[in-house]
Amino acid sequence: MAVPSAMAFPRMNRRRFVQGLVSSAAATWAGSGLLAQSGGERPAPAQGATVLNPRGRVPVSLIIDDSTCLVNLNRFAMPQFNDTFAGANPVYQRDWRDWPVEIPDAFVREFGEWAATNSVKGKYSIVPYPACVGRLDRGLPGWSQAELRDSLEVVRKVMLPNWDIHPEMITHTRVIDLSTGQPFADTSPRFMENWEWTTGRSVDEIAQYLGYALRILRDVGLPCEGITTPGGFGNRALPQLSQASLEAVRDVFHAEVPHYFRHVIDEGTDSVAPRVENAQGLGGTDPRCVVSLIACTGDWTGGWDNTEPVGADRFITADGQAGRLVEVIQRSEPALLLAHWTGVYWNGQKRGLHIFQEVVRRMHQRFDHLHWMKLSELARYAAARELTLIRADDSRVQLQAPFACPEFTLRIPRRSGSAPTLVGAEHRELREVNRPLDLGPNSWHQDAANLTVCFSLPRGTSELRWG
Ligand SMILES: [Zn+2]
Repeated sequence: MAVPSAMAFPRMNRRRFVQGLVSSAAATWAGSGLLAQSGGERPAPAQGATVLNPRGRVPVSLIIDDSTCLVNLNRFAMPQFNDTFAGANPVYQRDWRDWPVEIPDAFVREFGEWAATNSVKGKYSIVPYPACVGRLDRGLPGWSQAELRDSLEVVRKVMLPNWDIHPEMITHTRVIDLSTGQPFADTSPRFMENWEWTTGRSVDEIAQYLGYALRILRDVGLPCEGITTPGGFGNRALPQLSQASLEAVRDVFHAEVPHYFRHVIDEGTDSVAPRVENAQGLGGTDPRCVVSLIACTGDWTGGWDNTEPVGADRFITADGQAGRLVEVIQRSEPALLLAHWTGVYWNGQKRGLHIFQEVVRRMHQRFDHLHWMKLSELARYAAARELTLIRADDSRVQLQAPFACPEFTLRIPRRSGSAPTLVGAEHRELREVNRPLDLGPNSWHQDAANLTVCFSLPRGTSELRWG
């Protein structure tokens, strides 16, 4: 994601390009335009109840792109990008020869342990055949098989518990011929993952390509519920990308709620809430949808190419009063931060990591109602929020849910009577808490006007009852 999209359209800088893209996606979401990603089916609007954020908090998540095992991806990608544009863009002529070939596992551990200590969760890419250096399921020339095995084990042990793993396509550079496993001979933008390959391709062709990437990760023991697009992948095939993500992730991993990361909206007032797309079969035994997660920041930590970082203030200022994260959190939308692993490590100077450490410290100092979540958790919550049929009257709330969802949180007008009980496959008493901030699984809180209930929403039919 968010790599040098600008190159395909040299007159636009990256910001304007991304903005243009996102505006068009937002517009098509509203129902206009030829590239509309269909939202698909929706239930009738909720009656007598409002779905809140999980636990009434604001979800936050960290998106790491361009990571993989051992290989410093962009050290190898940059000369390939330079070839594609025949040396016409100085962006691809930085000092890549001086960059280390490896981002060591010790750094993965350091990052993962810092994140775990601070409750930080998110998405971590594992590019399966990074910059054509080698395949994670076969071997990385330059490293021993034991080193590759150990590196995969670090990802499984340190990262998997708190991070979704995504393929960022197969190589993030050259397009692979799926019949041979080798790159196509053509190195023009038509055969680079970052640029034009998806233009004009069908859902099936794109889904097969995604499936190939996902299978490599499956074969090395890394489960996935979503994918990340490299650079401009899918730019001119947005509806096909959405449907292909749904099909490929379901096919390879049987994920109930597949998701993908493609879009960045790093300024302005357009919504950055997840978009639930291509929903169908909501009343049946095989409901389907796919969720598009949207980052709300640019990479202000050192980029894909070790550039001078914009720094922490752009995310949140030292006094906690301004910055993009503050804007988004104050409007109660999920705030998804973006960075590239190359710049997080920054040639061993760890400049991106240090910025994130400061950003997270400031976030936690300013806000007490944040809820760190993985992208798959955000996707499931968005699907349940959009697609559950909800009818409330004086004595009960009836729910028909195509997908189960932990920490499902509803607000209804205050009512007299005893504590609510969840009646689904089993009865569950809910406990009252004194402060909204104490809302957790299977609890409720009331103030003068409203009652807020947080519970594990079962798939299918269930009810909240009083008395
Ligand atoms: Zn990327």
